[in-house]
Amino acid sequence: MYGKLENCGGCNTCMMACSFEKTGAFNTKASPLEIVFDEHEKRYLVHFIEEGEEYGERSFCDGCPGVEEPMCVRYCREWIEMRRLVDTYRQILKSRCENEE
Ligand code: SF4
Ligand code: SF4
Repeated sequence: MYGKLENCGGCNTCMMACSFEKTGAFNTKASPLEIVFDEHEKRYLVHFIEEGEEYGERSFCDGCPGVEEPMCVRYCREWIEMRRLVDTYRQILKSRCENEE
């Protein structure tokens, strides 16, 4: 899922924090989250890697179930908006699970 934050500056802190949470090391290339620059819109986009989209060292974002404040939210300066994106992503995962039942 790709999402937008009004003022994402591309600092990559969310990727670093997420990779540390998931791999125990600060490695943006292994993060299930990536920040990409959209040349067309001239802004950064937040990409939650979905199951089936994994590549390189990247696994997929499971939405950190049961975690009140995932690392990507905790360390984002725009955390309120990031929280909204994670909630949206979690809803997508939840509805997929329900549809598979
Ligand atoms: S919800 Fe968890 S796995 Fe997904 S991007 Fe945030 S910290 Fe990473
Ligand atoms: S931490 Fe927040 S502001 Fe920084 S790149 Fe990630 S989403 Fe953008």
